[in-house]
Amino acid sequence: MTAFDYDLFVIGGGSGGVRAGRLAGSLGKKVAVAEEYRFGGTCVIRGCVPKKLFVYASQFPEHFEDSVGFGWQFGETSFDWKRLVAAKDREISRLEGIYRRNLENAGVEVLGTRAELVDAHTIRLVTTGKTVTAEKIVIATGGSANPHAALPGHELCITSNEAFDLPELPRSILIAGGGYIAVEFANIFHGLGVDTTLIYRGKEILSRFDRDMRQGLHRAMEEKGIRIICTDIIEEVRKAPAGGLVAHTLEGQALAVDTVMLALGRDPNTEGLGLEAAGVEVNEKGAIIVDEYSRTNVPHIYALGDVTDRVQLTPVAIHEAMCFIETEFKNNPTKPDHELIATAVFSQPEIGTVGLSEEEACRRYPEIEVYRAEFRPMKATLSGRAEKMIMKLVVDAASRKVVGAHVLGHEAGEMAQLLGISLKAGCTKDDFDRTMAVHPTAAEELVTMYQPSYRIRNGERV
Ligand code: NDP
Repeated sequence: MTAFDYDLFVIGGGSGGVRAGRLAGSLGKKVAVAEEYRFGGTCVIRGCVPKKLFVYASQFPEHFEDSVGFGWQFGETSFDWKRLVAAKDREISRLEGIYRRNLENAGVEVLGTRAELVDAHTIRLVTTGKTVTAEKIVIATGGSANPHAALPGHELCITSNEAFDLPELPRSILIAGGGYIAVEFANIFHGLGVDTTLIYRGKEILSRFDRDMRQGLHRAMEEKGIRIICTDIIEEVRKAPAGGLVAHTLEGQALAVDTVMLALGRDPNTEGLGLEAAGVEVNEKGAIIVDEYSRTNVPHIYALGDVTDRVQLTPVAIHEAMCFIETEFKNNPTKPDHELIATAVFSQPEIGTVGLSEEEACRRYPEIEVYRAEFRPMKATLSGRAEKMIMKLVVDAASRKVVGAHVLGHEAGEMAQLLGISLKAGCTKDDFDRTMAVHPTAAEELVTMYQPSYRIRNGERV
């Protein structure tokens, strides 16, 4: 019989928190999950899910255009932004309901309140002011868009939060940043007919990706009509006298647009959480410091997902939650595995990737082989669309292991999921070579690139 109100109290009802709470509840533990906003977290409410729905919406104009080459003819088309937003809202409300029900069905107490730590075992429920105690605590409060408060005029700008619910679709938008969110939203807004410009401080968008993916996507986006400005940043945003905004850049440009969106990374949600009172340490970015089991410096307090700023991805938070359950409630200490995480950028075309970029592989291995194919996908032959797919395998020459796989093109995200299995299993290039192709597909290129396009030995291309 525990002296605490709960065996486990979870702060944050997003991907990591809900999974931890639900699994603990289904093991018969007394569990509560507190959420101050909406169950489902960033992913469901204002992240992955609504984003993907908007990606689908933004792809239709190209589908309509492509259909002509296949014999179709159609009349005038039109797009209703408000209908899309309403449809998206219905879907996320449905998913939110499922998240709640899953918790309730596992016997978890669902608390619609902000929760803050009072000490290492005590939590204050902000809505009622009541305090409760728990033997173990999980902090899974996620992150939020960096508001870039140092930028004069930042209060005139939106982040991805507002982008999902704009009252009107802007005629023009300037998006700052070169990461996942900036690139995905630039493609979404452009596809929906918005005059779109992206401004990024570095030399090439998507700094942590393989160079071929970065350059290939940059080219494809520009060919569609998205303007990309590199090596520049916004210095100030002001209201224009005639309406709209003007963004002044370091390089002296004045960009007049309806909307400016900042996509400059996300910060962990730890402010005002009572971490100091509980003795939980954070790093200089405010992220909770955890060990390899997701345990904070206070042994019965764990932190999962984006609030720890390890890898900001939904499946990673879920995985960390499952490892926490194994460790704490199943007597099976399990460390989350952050190696070889497959991921996708839902740009148009998509990027799907797993493992090392060519540049990283060169630094890690004395000799690598690069297998690369660039081709026009079959659908583009009749549609007449000028688009290229790029596929790339990076192989450690000594072990023959495929250490990186990168795809730019339609369904690259779907391919990345399956490539993830192959790389996780440690497949060699010879395993790829003896795998029969699925014909006719684009993915068959991945198993038919028999000769290396080039080798890199000690950093030199040979
Ligand atoms: P990212 O870390 O991907 O990108 C942030 C961008 O902002 C980078 O281009 C960075 O430049 C730039 N930047 C940061 N600070 C400044 C600054 N002070 N001035 C100018 N530029 C700056 O973050 P996002 O916000 O795009 O996304 C957050 C996280 O959410 C991602 O890391 C990802 O894990 C996750 N996510 C995943 C998605 C998916 O799986 N498809 C989709 C959306 C988000 P630089 O590169 O030079 O550092």
